[in-house]
Amino acid sequence: MKKIKLQAEIEVASDISELNSTDAMLLLRAKEVAKDAYAPYSNFKVGSALLLENDKIVIGNNQENASFSVTICGERNAIFSASAQYPGVAIKTIAITVISSKGNLETPVPPCGSCRQVIYEMETRHKNNIRIILQGDSGDIYLINSIKDILPLLFDSRYL
Ligand SMILES: [Zn+2]
Repeated sequence: MKKIKLQAEIEVASDISELNSTDAMLLLRAKEVAKDAYAPYSNFKVGSALLLENDKIVIGNNQENASFSVTICGERNAIFSASAQYPGVAIKTIAITVISSKGNLETPVPPCGSCRQVIYEMETRHKNNIRIILQGDSGDIYLINSIKDILPLLFDSRYL
């Protein structure tokens, strides 16, 4: 039996000052938006800000519900909102950050599986890579060139 190796390479910035001005602005906007998340159950507030090809910025944060399964993640909220407000416009970059319930989380928090699938759908829909910027409350910042880098063996329409 043979093995295949799945691997990815991402950039890591140790401080926001290492980012270009657009990326830094998006990350700061995501941090602002996280403050307004509705997360009374998890106290884990996620903020997201994305930049579209038309240079519009769309924000989103997580919105929880007592019926947990209808909760929506912050990044998915931003993506669906962008798709509704600007249909047909590709996403260039999305920044995702958190205000964690456990204090100062210094590890970037990656999108959940569902959000990765949604980001990939947007990449295929518009035939472009979406850059992803991740940071926890503080600490390292991950810069990812495409969701494909962190979604190996992805599912898409070719299997349908
Ligand atoms: Zn998610």
